Amino acid sequence: ENLVATELNKCDRIQIGNLVFYEKLGSGQFGEVYRGTYKKKELNDLDVAIKILKNKDDYEEDSSEKDLVFMRFVREAKMMQNFDHPHIIKLIGVCVNDSLSIIMELAKFGQLRTYLQNNKNQIETKTLLLYCLQLNSAMEYLESKKYVHRDIAARNILVFSHECLKLADFGLSREVNENFYLASKCKLPIKWMAPESINFRKFTSQSDIWMFGICIWEIMSFGDKPFQGIKNADVIKLIEDKKRLEKPKACPNELYVQMLQCWEYDSSLRPNFTQLKNSINLIYSQYREKKEL
Ligand code: ATP
Repeated sequence: ENLVATELNKCDRIQIGNLVFYEKLGSGQFGEVYRGTYKKKELNDLDVAIKILKNKDDYEEDSSEKDLVFMRFVREAKMMQNFDHPHIIKLIGVCVNDSLSIIMELAKFGQLRTYLQNNKNQIETKTLLLYCLQLNSAMEYLESKKYVHRDIAARNILVFSHECLKLADFGLSREVNENFYLASKCKLPIKWMAPESINFRKFTSQSDIWMFGICIWEIMSFGDKPFQGIKNADVIKLIEDKKRLEKPKACPNELYVQMLQCWEYDSSLRPNFTQLKNSINLIYSQYREKKEL
């Protein structure tokens, strides 16, 4: 309670009575997400997503895990309240009840991976490139705020409309607090991680660039998983042998060149998000006028 009060002091408090719950949208490591409506007095009802922290009783006796998960949850809300960007999910408020909930804007079309898989035949290359640009601009914003996301992957991107994506899941992103990260038992997204993150747990904006490269590979592959059929433990060897993911069919050559630059082993040779945006913008402008399908 104290932690919530101090860490989330800038956050709007929402009364449980003003929330209507509908179906479950999904569940994550520390809670479940429901579609809902936020009934604001005298204002229009708002479509929202409500993420409820797992109940204390759902944990086994290991209370340290429970505390870590709670901190991660609070941290996620805190991160979200600091950001204001058209392609980053906005926090609407928190609800402190028997359990803690985060209320955020609703992404009607759900997870990007599933969306890409289900609409493979309707999505043009220029739209895929637009998605890459939108995420790039969200990442450039985070980079300018000195935030490292650490978990950029299609599974953490939500679809607002056919032409608008938003980055979600700030559970892993943090400013410093290395100890927390090392102590936490959360599963690491090895196949998305830069070699220095796998080897030395080093996370920087340059390692975010590597992850971004994997993420745009997922987008251009319509939601395929990277390094399919390869064990997590074997990925680092592969990278150190200079092997890289292949060019997805729909991916323009020029964009693949950019991906390869994101996957430079030496992190200082990778572009930053501003440079990358300029390159992807050029590619996008070539495709914008093209008729496809
Ligand atoms: P973890 O948080 O453990 O890394 P996760 O990202 O899958 O895992 P959550 O962030 O709890 O878990 O989200 C679970 C699912 O709920 C998401 O995969 C997504 O389908 C759905 N979801 C989450 N936030 C929203 C939102 N704002 N709008 C629409 N759907 C959402």
